[in-house]
Amino acid sequence: MSFELTILGSSSALPTSNRFPTAHLLKAGERFFLIDCGEGTQMRLKKYGLNLARIHHIFISHLHGDHVFGLFGLLSSLGMMGRKVPLHLYGPPALSDLMAQYGHFFGPLPFELACKSPTASEAFIYESDKITVTAIPLKHRTRTYGYLFREKARPLNVIKEQIEAVGLGMADVVKVKRGEDFITEDGEFIPNERLTHPPYHRRSYAYLSDTAFDPALADRIQGADLLFHEATFAEKDKKLATQTLHSTAAQAASIARMAGVKKLLIGHFSTRYKDTAQLVEEAREIFTPTVGVNDGDLYSVPLKRLKRE
Ligand SMILES: [Zn+2]
Repeated sequence: MSFELTILGSSSALPTSNRFPTAHLLKAGERFFLIDCGEGTQMRLKKYGLNLARIHHIFISHLHGDHVFGLFGLLSSLGMMGRKVPLHLYGPPALSDLMAQYGHFFGPLPFELACKSPTASEAFIYESDKITVTAIPLKHRTRTYGYLFREKARPLNVIKEQIEAVGLGMADVVKVKRGEDFITEDGEFIPNERLTHPPYHRRSYAYLSDTAFDPALADRIQGADLLFHEATFAEKDKKLATQTLHSTAAQAASIARMAGVKKLLIGHFSTRYKDTAQLVEEAREIFTPTVGVNDGDLYSVPLKRLKRE
């Protein structure tokens, strides 16, 4: 099963000819999750060979134009393509107010738009049999959420030879897959580790954009495989970052280091920097596995088994 992130747009508020405003697409197995939808997102999806019709879930961080202006065009295209199945949107409460305007101005869509906002009572804003998504409140000028996508634990794989060797019946196999130990007819105790292959690592992707530097975020995303953290400014413009509730590349790297993530992706670069290498450099001084993203980049997290002691 794949766990693959495509960067559709890596700019901040102003698009350039190379960098579109923010949008990411996470492919987890057969599911596509669109994260933010800046202007031109549907063109980027086409350019990178990704099928719009396969998107059923869109997560919006906040209602600043560079994260939502692409939604209207995308919805219109989906309507023209004859979509009938519901489209699920997740984001701040104002998202449903904005979407309610669509039909008023542009006519009804032939599919249902289901909007959902995070609630205090639910741990996950989205959950399927394979993945959970947690909304993480960020510090920005309007209500903003980051999102943590994390695979659920898979059932353990039973070692085939052991089924016969210890005499596992069908019902026993189900229990062993859940992690239970086994006691043979002769009363011999067989620990689960002897009957199963090591479990798979649960892959995760954390998306934190836009936000002021907030060390508390590190606790929410501990050990993520991939972290995207906005890095709008260079260190010399730290004051501007503080004023506008954005982060510097070095601050993004501090969060990555505190959270012990495997890899940091930075983007949402201000267009004031003609060369973004400087920002990547500043981040790498604090957290070496940092990459500055570009539109069209693909980051894949391979499926690995955990090591048993
Ligand atoms: Zn932004």
